[in-house]
Amino acid sequence: MSKLDCAIIGGGPAGLTAGLYTTRGGLENVTMFEKGMPGGQIMNSSEIENYPGVTGDITGMDLMAPWPDQCQKFGLIHEMVNITHLTKEGDTFTIHKEDGTSVDAHSVIIGTGSSPRRAGFTGEDEFLGRGVSTCATCDGFFYKGKEVVVVGGGDTALEEALYLAKICSKVYLVHRRDTFRSAPNTIARIKRTENIELVLNSIPQEVYGDKMGVIGLKVKNSTGEIRDIEVPGVFTFVGNDVNNQTLIQEDGSFLCDMNDQGQVIVDISMNTSVPGLFATGDMRISSPKQVVSAAGDGAVAALQVISYVDELLND
Ligand code: FAD
Ligand code: NAP
Repeated sequence: MSKLDCAIIGGGPAGLTAGLYTTRGGLENVTMFEKGMPGGQIMNSSEIENYPGVTGDITGMDLMAPWPDQCQKFGLIHEMVNITHLTKEGDTFTIHKEDGTSVDAHSVIIGTGSSPRRAGFTGEDEFLGRGVSTCATCDGFFYKGKEVVVVGGGDTALEEALYLAKICSKVYLVHRRDTFRSAPNTIARIKRTENIELVLNSIPQEVYGDKMGVIGLKVKNSTGEIRDIEVPGVFTFVGNDVNNQTLIQEDGSFLCDMNDQGQVIVDISMNTSVPGLFATGDMRISSPKQVVSAAGDGAVAALQVISYVDELLND
């Protein structure tokens, strides 16, 4: 395979927008490497209220469905593969795939986003997929008419608690403090939803169950009291970790400069410390972690790539 003009790693809002702008901007040889279905983590969201111009009841899946088709119309190739790591020698990047093969590129836009963090209570891993979930749109339906726990106090936990409250008979919202990190409008909606009970200043201790799945969650409050909440489903939304593994080199160092939280350091044009490598979306420093900003990053990086490749090949 000839060298790609641009390799895009990650097919979330950042990667897809980068794909749209690079191809529509005239680059002919662009491949987006996405290990799953394109769309990114917003596909797990049950409700989008803040994407400009989009009104009405719309899920993350609804929002993202047309994006890949739009890119493909301008010639973006999508290859469904997990990228293990990225290296650079001279002016050439090499994208290493999970099947052991690799492809070379003049430039790379990376937007591998982030993944749900574990809350760290006993039994969380054991019951993951058997009563413990990190996706309400995926698993909420299994608890129709039943009671569930939601753990967390950020935008994701509160929005998903509201979604689950429409399906489930009751939602216990377990949060380790008594104030939330979420948007005021969302907090107000939580407080006026009758079948959501706030379990504040409480930390999950142990999820327990049997071969069939979860039976309950024990939580400890700030005075040390243990409360046993009997539910078949526990949804955890306690933040995300940056997916930066692709940038790790053989000696354990990162290909480009990172901060101490594992986020890629970029300038205002999404340039990393390595020429020709651009980082976008949730994985970069100071990301607002929004679909609209991830898409914006993808567009900015793509415009930079077009000039970079032009200069590289024509100077
Ligand atoms: P991601 O969306 O995380 O996409 C990264 C992609 O890279 C993924 O598809 C992943 O499969 C792929 N990938 C990762 N590693 C590799 C690899 N090694 N090889 C190949 N592919 C790889 N934002 C809003 O603006 N409004 C909302 O209402 C909203 N609600 C949310 C609700 C939930 C439940 C969650 C979790 C997030 C929500 N967000 C919301 C935040 C929003 O989803 C993110 O800010 C946005 O998706 C970030 O886009 P991204 O392209 O940077 O990364
Ligand atoms: P977040 O904002 O980091 O919130 C994580 C929550 O989990 C916090 O309330 C935190 O408690 C709690 N927590 C963390 N570790 C815990 C543990 N071990 N045990 C118990 N609780 C724990 O994560 P998020 O809600 O997923 O949001 C991520 C980003 O996406 C944010 O920037 C958010 O604004 C954005 N987002 C936006 C929207 C939207 O715009 N509509 C929707 C979803 C997400 P503390 O509060 O005590 O730290």
